[in-house]
Amino acid sequence: MTSSRPILITGAAGFIGFHLCQRLLAEGRQVVGLDSMSEYYDVTLKQARLERLKGFANFRFEHVDLADRDGISAVFASAAPEIVVNLAAQAGVRYSLINPHVYAQSNLNGFLNILEGCRQASVGHLVYASSSSIYGGSTRMPFSVHDSADHPLSLYAASKKANELMAHTYSHLFGLPTTGLRFFTVYGPWGRPDMALFIFTKAILAGQPIDVFNHGNMQRDFTYIDDIVEGVVRVMHHPATPNPDWTNAAPDPATSNAPFRIHNIGDSSPTELNRLIDVLEGALGRKAIRNMMPLQPGDVPATFADVTSLEEVTGFKPSIPIEIGVPRFVEWYRDFYQV
Ligand code: NAD
Repeated sequence: MTSSRPILITGAAGFIGFHLCQRLLAEGRQVVGLDSMSEYYDVTLKQARLERLKGFANFRFEHVDLADRDGISAVFASAAPEIVVNLAAQAGVRYSLINPHVYAQSNLNGFLNILEGCRQASVGHLVYASSSSIYGGSTRMPFSVHDSADHPLSLYAASKKANELMAHTYSHLFGLPTTGLRFFTVYGPWGRPDMALFIFTKAILAGQPIDVFNHGNMQRDFTYIDDIVEGVVRVMHHPATPNPDWTNAAPDPATSNAPFRIHNIGDSSPTELNRLIDVLEGALGRKAIRNMMPLQPGDVPATFADVTSLEEVTGFKPSIPIEIGVPRFVEWYRDFYQV
């Protein structure tokens, strides 16, 4: 790709956005990073990520909220991005049970502002974060992008499903190439303090018990951050094109002419929570005190990604196992927090 137009990455101070920015900046791309620096979790961690990004001369930061319509419009007007990767969102399943309105603000109104910005600035490809949570409690394994996923179990999941529907309309109406990526439980260095691996590590090092939901039998497709970044970068360079077989005269209701795609990005090897904790204990050299708990409202018992469509389009599929990824997370955690 030789364009001089920048890549706009929203959620740049977040876990995944930070890693993606670092990768693209190191490759010499012009990156505009946008973030509201939301206080959902420790802002000092976000500031530390941002400080690193500001060390790159080819990085520009925009402190803007997705829900600020004029602010977002101004960013698109000044940056004229070639590609947009929308990672900014209110994340978290459990938090959506106690604070639903912020999901509507950031994930619905905010996402609409991104779609409008893309349309106005003639963006070449919008890649955006969806989530494995949209599959709800489906027992059909692995989760395929071809399965219907119409029963989200939380407002967070519903907002991500809504993003996919909204993106489709913009692909259909305005020819905006869009790709939704359903991420499966991402972990790694600089990871999120509200997620299990981080919470467990902090508690085990402090000698405190950990709450193990669904008695540790919950299965997650834990996906290492480097695999996510590689997948996003490859997808960025593969925008969908209008379907050549589609005809307006006799449309097939199962397809459309929209340059629209959805992929799963997951490790495709579901791991029981108890197994993750075993590996974490090994990396920390300490035993956890496991407080067994039932499945929490909004949580799903298992996730398992079918990544066939990702592989077909990009030739890539995630491959880094927890035996490699968890020790890397622990090494970062000990170094960053000096414990
Ligand atoms: P994160 O919370 O670390 O990053 C999100 C960033 O977006 C934060 O820095 C936050 O300040 C910013 N943000 C939140 N609301 C905003 C708003 N209204 N305007 C501007 N910025 C805002 O989360 P993450 O783990 O990096 O996740 C990135 C994306 O991937 C999110 O959309 C999330 O829903 C999705 N996702 C993540 C996972 C995972 O396991 N980490 C799994 C599935 C989907």
